Amino acid sequence: MSSEEDPTVPVVCPECETTTRVALSTVAESIERHNDQLHDGEDIAQVDPELAEQLQDLVAKDLGLL
Ligand SMILES: [Zn+2]
Repeated sequence: MSSEEDPTVPVVCPECETTTRVALSTVAESIERHNDQLHDGEDIAQVDPELAEQLQDLVAKDLGLL
């Protein structure tokens, strides 16, 4: 596993109608900043829900839950 490649995940904001690919390591920060600056801190932008499910599956597998 290479630590040099930072995978990106799609972040969707239904209100801005944008999808942005953000490095996984900074995605939480980016979403928070976006919602802070553009949506008064409301949770509008988020990781693409489909991908979020896949990530949860992956994490669950890593933890040996599946
Ligand atoms: Zn937005």
